Amino acid sequence: MPAANPKSVKVHVTTGAGMDIEWDDAHQTHYSFQWLRDACPCATCNEEREQSGRRAGEPVKQAASLLPMYKEPVKPNEVKPVGRYALSFSWNDGHTSGIYSWDYLRAMCQCEECRK
Ligand SMILES: [Zn+2]
Ligand SMILES: [Zn+2]
Repeated sequence: MPAANPKSVKVHVTTGAGMDIEWDDAHQTHYSFQWLRDACPCATCNEEREQSGRRAGEPVKQAASLLPMYKEPVKPNEVKPVGRYALSFSWNDGHTSGIYSWDYLRAMCQCEECRK
C-alpha cells in the first residue's frame, strides 16, 4: 500500500466531535476521540491490549463489580504534528505518549468500506 498522506486534518477539540481526515486519494475517515484514545499505539497501551485481548479502538472492559462511574468525555488537551508522518495527542486523562502515524490511522480507517 502506498504511504498514507492526509490532504486535510480537522481536529474538533472544542466541540469534542473527534477528528476528520481527508486523504490525498479523497478517502475520508472520521475518528471519535474515545476511539482514538482506546486505539493509542504507544507501547504501554499495546501491551495492555495484548494482555487483555482488546483490539485497538475497543473500549476498556470495566470490572463487573464496579459501579459505572461518571467519566469525563475523552478529549485531547493538545494535538501536535510529529514531523510529517504523525500526530501526537495529549489526552485529558494525562496520557501523552501516543504517536499516531498517518499509516496507522489510515490502516485503522473506520468507514464501512474499510471495515469489510
Ligand atoms: Zn498509550
Ligand atoms: Zn475507509
